[in-house]
Amino acid sequence: MAVNYLYPEYEAVRNYDRCITCRACERQCANEAHEYIEDGDRMVCDDSKCVNCHRCVALCPTRALKIMKSGNAYKQNANWPGRTIDEIYRQAGSGGVLLSSMGNPENYPVYFDRILLNASQVTNPSIDPLREPMETRVYLGAKPQEIERDVNGRIINNLPPQLSLSMPVMFSAMSYGSISYNAHESLARAAVKLGILYNTGEGGLHEDFYRYGANTVVQVASGRFGVHPEYLSAGAAVEIKMGQGAKPGIGGHLPGTKIVGDVSRTRMIPEGSDAISPAPHHDIYSIEDLRQLVYSLKEATEYTKPVIVKIAAVHNVTAIASGIARSGADIIAIDGFRGGTGAAPTRIRDHVGIPIELALAGVDKRLRDEGIRDNVSIVVGGSIRSSADIVKAVALGADCVYIGSAALIALGCHLCRSCQTGKCNWGIATQIPELVKRLNPDIGYERLVNLLTAWQHEIKEMMGGMGINSIESLKGNRLMLRGVGLNEKELDILGIKHAGE
Ligand code: SF4
Ligand code: SF4
Ligand code: SF4
Repeated sequence: MAVNYLYPEYEAVRNYDRCITCRACERQCANEAHEYIEDGDRMVCDDSKCVNCHRCVALCPTRALKIMKSGNAYKQNANWPGRTIDEIYRQAGSGGVLLSSMGNPENYPVYFDRILLNASQVTNPSIDPLREPMETRVYLGAKPQEIERDVNGRIINNLPPQLSLSMPVMFSAMSYGSISYNAHESLARAAVKLGILYNTGEGGLHEDFYRYGANTVVQVASGRFGVHPEYLSAGAAVEIKMGQGAKPGIGGHLPGTKIVGDVSRTRMIPEGSDAISPAPHHDIYSIEDLRQLVYSLKEATEYTKPVIVKIAAVHNVTAIASGIARSGADIIAIDGFRGGTGAAPTRIRDHVGIPIELALAGVDKRLRDEGIRDNVSIVVGGSIRSSADIVKAVALGADCVYIGSAALIALGCHLCRSCQTGKCNWGIATQIPELVKRLNPDIGYERLVNLLTAWQHEIKEMMGGMGINSIESLKGNRLMLRGVGLNEKELDILGIKHAGE
């Protein structure tokens, strides 16, 4: 008999006094963990199939279920935690690379949680955001170095194309294919309502979503899936994806099982074939090569749209950003190592890249030092979790942030980190029609609008507390930040003082 080395990580604990054997949990679990046993008229659960997504818990009408961490324990060993042992058993059994999804869950420092905001007291009084106008609108794109005037003294409009956003937030790149049609529709409609932008990711643009083009960033990745002239012209901006925080240095892979129907048509690849984006763009090996692609895309869109270059936050990010700012790009997007993904090798997700807070502070400082900060706007992503993270990112030098995981959580994601299986019980990271239907885009749209409306109020409150009435005045204003429990080097890189100074 084969030995089972792996024990279930979670247990579905059922209160049989409450269970009415309605079998809702059985119908809701795409992993087929729950089962009805006629003999005895009762439910049982195969805990080994549970990924802890909470779908059955949320839909159990009698609150009979809870998911618990399994009580099985390995002998205490600080050097060999249970997860490491399990992973070795798994790889010894499969011979395969470990795959995961969403963001890096490891216990690295979260610098946003070690930075505090200032508030006005006595002098420079605070502003009441309920009674005074507060400006959260931002414009993304290159800014001219000088104002030019004609012979009559009138200002010449030499402003390159700009993106106008009601608040410094955009939905980050999530491709149709990695997430469902209904998730994309929710994001697109929310972006229109909020006056911000969402991002196609590398999967092309479904024909139904061309009508949201004015609120869409269209992405061009190394696989060039779904890229054609109409696609480039449809969006408000074009983003070249050079890297992604969840998997710096490697390409993308959407398994053939997700390349079905409209996903295959939108990507312009056959059904069932794996969509593999190469690690590098095969025509880019230098900043000069990147510049050629930037200008090719500008040419293709008649110089009417800003071009974004997205990179992962890696060790030499400041030098890379300096090159991008000189490449003709209008916006740099930097994705930190906690950024989400639909699928990534676990080792890459958890061990490659650097925190976005350090990357952002370093890039903003370097571009200022080199006198080229106005060449580009800076957008950062990689686990922006709240309005406070946004305010801190802006004060560290960002013009805007990308949010991905937070938006998916608003749609119902429970961070089970199983997107790579394609069986998302919440209808988000799946193409299985009966699962996709579980996410109602009307409700998804409303929840996203609610989330960002609430965040906008909170941003205004924090700005008001600091005596600042325009988000532009907060940009790079590190005097508004203080560190707690950070060492000299960390404070130096962040460009902030310690609390108490
Ligand atoms: S959903 Fe709840 S009440 Fe219904 S069978 Fe499952 S545990 Fe029992
Ligand atoms: S995978 Fe989700 S729906 Fe299935 S048993 Fe676990 S928590 Fe419940
Ligand atoms: S999107 Fe779905 S599968 Fe992915 S982490 Fe969230 S709930 Fe789990």
